[in-house]
Amino acid sequence: MTTTPAFPTGTILGYPRIGRRRELKKAVEAFWAGRIDEAELEATSAGLRDATRARLVALGLGQADSSIPESFSYYDQVLDAAVTVGAVPSRFSALVDSDGRIDLAGYFTLARGEGDNLPLEMTKWFDSNYHYLVPEIGPETNFALASDRIVREFTEAKAAGYLTRPVIVGPVTLLALSKPSDEAPAGFVPLSRLDDVLPVYATLLQRLAEVGAEWVQLDEPALVSESIEVPRAELLAAAERAYSVLGTLEPRPAIFLAAPYGSLDDALPVLAASPVEAIGLDLVRGSVPGAVPGLADKVLVAGVIDGHNIWRGDLAAAFDTVGAVAKLSPRVAVSTSTSLLHVPHDVQDESSLGDDLTSWLAFADQKVNQVATLAHGLTHGKSAIQAELDAASAALAARLAAPGVRDGAVRARTAGLTEADFNRGDYAARAVAQEEALGLPFLPTTTIGSFPQTGEIRRARAQLGKGELTADEYTALMRAEIARVVDLQHELGLDVLVHGEPERNDMVQYFAENLDGFAVTENGWVQSYGSRCTRPSILWGDVSRPKPITVDWSVYTQSLTEKPVKGMLTGPVTILAWSFVRDDQPLGETARQVALALRDEIGDLESAGITIVQVDEPALRELLPLKKKDQADYLDWSVGSFKLATAGVAEVTQIHTHLCYSEFGVVIEAIRNLDADVTSIEAARSRMEVVSDIQSSGFDHGIGPGVYDIHSPRVPSVTEVTELIERALESIPGRQVWINPDCGLKTRGYDETIESLANIVEATQIVRARVEAPVR
Ligand code: GLN
Ligand code: ZN
Repeated sequence: MTTTPAFPTGTILGYPRIGRRRELKKAVEAFWAGRIDEAELEATSAGLRDATRARLVALGLGQADSSIPESFSYYDQVLDAAVTVGAVPSRFSALVDSDGRIDLAGYFTLARGEGDNLPLEMTKWFDSNYHYLVPEIGPETNFALASDRIVREFTEAKAAGYLTRPVIVGPVTLLALSKPSDEAPAGFVPLSRLDDVLPVYATLLQRLAEVGAEWVQLDEPALVSESIEVPRAELLAAAERAYSVLGTLEPRPAIFLAAPYGSLDDALPVLAASPVEAIGLDLVRGSVPGAVPGLADKVLVAGVIDGHNIWRGDLAAAFDTVGAVAKLSPRVAVSTSTSLLHVPHDVQDESSLGDDLTSWLAFADQKVNQVATLAHGLTHGKSAIQAELDAASAALAARLAAPGVRDGAVRARTAGLTEADFNRGDYAARAVAQEEALGLPFLPTTTIGSFPQTGEIRRARAQLGKGELTADEYTALMRAEIARVVDLQHELGLDVLVHGEPERNDMVQYFAENLDGFAVTENGWVQSYGSRCTRPSILWGDVSRPKPITVDWSVYTQSLTEKPVKGMLTGPVTILAWSFVRDDQPLGETARQVALALRDEIGDLESAGITIVQVDEPALRELLPLKKKDQADYLDWSVGSFKLATAGVAEVTQIHTHLCYSEFGVVIEAIRNLDADVTSIEAARSRMEVVSDIQSSGFDHGIGPGVYDIHSPRVPSVTEVTELIERALESIPGRQVWINPDCGLKTRGYDETIESLANIVEATQIVRARVEAPVR
């Protein structure tokens, strides 16, 4: 580039896109249900984008200086990038028109599947609770600029008077996160197609330059992660190659390469030597780097405001960090560490948190404000923002001294723990005792816990909240629902029953509402995947359990059946992962407090006659640090907290756990160390790929690889499930195998659920008849 346009002094990497009142979710779901057409969906989303731009300007970003990221997505930014470059798997080729384009309905089909065509696989986005869709790329993938949505959104903004900054996942991250397509030969690596995808990015950048974009943001978080399968050296070589090609294009917008979720480490010299104009540094996860050749010529975008958490934090320290970055380059800007996708919109939308807690928090809008404050300080000097810095420091000091943040009884209990509190007896002996006590058939069938949350259930909960139902009336309605779910499971012929979790709005929030140390928001929604949102609770103080939480529900359920009913709890790691957690002490310490509360609950369930307790840890993998050096410590405290929660029970009590993903390989050792008697995992979408990992690891406890992908409305056929079970049995000894769906059924409708579960039971019976039951 001949002259680099000025980079804005303050910016953010992205903003929540689902809408302040989840407008996008509602519109997208209405479109799926056929209640609105494409034009109406487009209009709603255009309105949302417009509102976002206006809001960001009101909060202090510039209207005409590229500081507003154009970061909208209908479903997922990785899917967007894949569709932009034309990476549509061949099983969906019918969705692509003669110009290589795919319409909005087709785009959603990739995400949700259709008929026998499975959707793209979904997995966690770095160490967040956001899920992206995994592109499939092979030698046959025909790269071409297949969508101009990014260009259109930029021009839409321009027409409305904004000079925004288009955002797209960069080529290295796109390919590094992709999996080989069905057609790809063994050993194929998607990143090997880099030279073929770069011309498409080049065309896109040129189109953006033509319509007047001054800056474009390419997100390359793959460069900070050590959990990418591609060898590091190849990843760095790819980055060097990609940005030497894109960086030497003319004309093009200036390139801002953002690298959220960690420090760039050895990727930094590569980028500093490349022709990109600006580099984003995550200075919440990483620290200020040392001097690197070439860095002084770049705009350094200091990600000092935590995009991943909701604390107001230490603004003065953040400003000092910006100052340290300013020593590395004369051109510095202030930003968030990641997209604000991970935090809710606005603390002002909350009315029940109380003044103290409210004053300790910053949601997306407050964080934009903090960015604007620091940017102002950068331009006008620290004294210009001293009052804001002082206010933040005062709030932080008040928070650390507030009642409930430290509870003496809780602290005494964690301090008194010994090794014995973390360990159960020998597994083999337990297995025999449990087999005798439970008397389950070969290939026991069960579900992961939740049954569909019907409109009636949600309505009842809303009425309870508004005082239109008494607690007793609500309990009676939930009990009736439980009885229905038990009857249904009897009819279907499942072996281990669940109560269906109707009383739980959310598997973490439910516990947060019943434990001390947590607060719950009213409107604090964040996108989990596609149209699905969660409302994380805020863990702000020491955690304890004032009274039993789930015991009455489980005991009632068990009273309805002779079959074993699983008690159902959420594990300590998941409670932490899906909440916004206090940042004033190590996570491991907080996890032990939660574990002790759960240990008491499990003890109470056991005393009340519940023989199987499932402790869900779907987030175990998600919190795994991206840097190898941090992983051992994490695995130690996370596994330890699960064991602390579950190790208090007798031999005959069977502990289950559930994990929501299929990349079992990376954490297999940790999963073994959990020492749960039975572990259910997701496996259907990846067609049992995971079982070979299990086999090679020598895992010898019970294992239920999912046979029904519950993320899609598709009903798996009996043949399909039979094949999956048989595939599992090829790798895993039969006595270990359990049959279950991938995950809970909460988001599914009843019709598809009943059909799918009936097919699972039928398939299990077919396999039981074909295969001889093992003898121990
Ligand atoms: N027991 C939970 C359910 O069935 C587990 C959900 C999850 O793993 N995300 O809903
Ligand atoms: Zn799950």
